[in-house]
Amino acid sequence: MSSLFPALTEALADPDGTAAHRPALRFGDRSLTYGELAATAAPLAARIGEAGRIAVWATPTLETAVTVVAALLAGVPAVPLNPKSGGSELGHIVADSAPSLVLAAPDDQLPAALASLARVDIDVRATGPAASPAPDARHLADELPALVVYTSGTTGPPKGAVIPRRAVATTLDALADAWRWTGDDVLVHGLPLFHVHGLILGILGPLRRGGSVRHLGRFETAGVTRELSGGATMLFGVPTMYHRIAESLPDDPALAKALAGARLLVSGSAALPVHDHERIARATGRRVIERYGMTETLMNTSVRADGEPRAGTVGVPLPGVELRLTEEDGTTAVEAYDGETVGEIQVRGANLFTEYLNRPDATAAAFTEDGWFRTGDMAVRDPDGYVRIVGRKATDLIKSGGYKIGAGEIENALIEHPGVREAAVTGEPDADLGERIVAWIVPSDPQNPPSTAELADHVADRLAPHKRPRVVHHLDALPRNDMGKIMKRALAHD
Ligand code: ATP
Ligand code: MG
Repeated sequence: MSSLFPALTEALADPDGTAAHRPALRFGDRSLTYGELAATAAPLAARIGEAGRIAVWATPTLETAVTVVAALLAGVPAVPLNPKSGGSELGHIVADSAPSLVLAAPDDQLPAALASLARVDIDVRATGPAASPAPDARHLADELPALVVYTSGTTGPPKGAVIPRRAVATTLDALADAWRWTGDDVLVHGLPLFHVHGLILGILGPLRRGGSVRHLGRFETAGVTRELSGGATMLFGVPTMYHRIAESLPDDPALAKALAGARLLVSGSAALPVHDHERIARATGRRVIERYGMTETLMNTSVRADGEPRAGTVGVPLPGVELRLTEEDGTTAVEAYDGETVGEIQVRGANLFTEYLNRPDATAAAFTEDGWFRTGDMAVRDPDGYVRIVGRKATDLIKSGGYKIGAGEIENALIEHPGVREAAVTGEPDADLGERIVAWIVPSDPQNPPSTAELADHVADRLAPHKRPRVVHHLDALPRNDMGKIMKRALAHD
């Protein structure tokens, strides 16, 4: 495979060339050009070159980005660690992935769970010509693991997905095609760096294109306004960020203007509520584009930059991705493009992971005999091929009264009620119906929440009577993980 980052390779070969002077990374007031990134990452790559696998204390900092680039230069697989995860989860990940080193910024305090690992401090100020010969990533095999990324743990304990270099290159190039993503793009980024979205798309994506990324450290709408009005062209976010944007827009004309001027607004990692999509569209004239992916598959579908960004859809399969829907047996293909027939999404393509680390059982179970990866996500397809995700097979598909009902459309309908700020829908056993629909809502006014009957009528009017919730629980907030994903496991156990 040729280099994952052509602009970086060019800067390594010619420290005074034009590529070397282009901006690459910016976190707050600290930034690196491609030349500076090469000069920082190359010595680090030489230093970790003999490690079998490294762990990265993945704070949202320049240090994390530089370390991952260095690991990719060295051909050493990197395991990004979530600094906010608790000791038991970190202990599990460290025992499972068995890194030989952990890399962290000099002032990071590492928890006891990492005490057994040798530590290397990352010094991004060490610029100047590379002290040791720059590693040449061009000889590295396509199938060599680039990263081991742990899944978000939404449906069970996180699993380590082994992601080869080939998958990283494939998915980033497919997105470049879909989004007309070039080296002229400047990305605004406010996501954590230990998952596919924030790390592979948000950091490695701009670097593969030879463009740049400006990380906000912590997401805040003022930073989005500042960067988009100061030359940035794209924004990547998770639905909770777009929710905050939608809430701020009525009182923030500068944010509306900045978003209106962006080339591309992209949402992913979970479903973007239709209500938020529409509010942003009304206030800015811009529609957020949704893409759908997983740790195991990287990106599968997206609305294309030249396509029609419709609310509630994740667009069409990316170039090189084969996608089918299957019936409950997991092998019979659903042929319908009717916007109604629900099937499980299965995918094949060079964007896929190799295996779950140390989990041959889980890896085998995840694939069909003919090599399709079972995503566990359920969807329908519109007549023009646009995919609409209705939810996860495990938690979002409710079998009630002989119907298969997706939680997502009920959640979307509930959020449109003025008395509902946030909503999640689950099923629970019911003697008559098989399962009954349960709504968990965060009321807009906790003193005066809408009644169960009112919400049931609201949903019945908008969707169908059998989709109305039978039980409504009130919460102060929905349980969410670091990516803002609703943890339905936690709801069901309440
Ligand atoms: P775990 O596999 O550990 O339970 P997880 O599935 O949340 O956690 P990730 O790999 O980070 O871990 O997330 C992938 C999942 O996120 C997909 O399977 C899908 O359910 C959901 N997802 C991603 N993008 C979208 C989107 N645009 N719309 C709806 N769902 C999405
Ligand atoms: Mg998953």
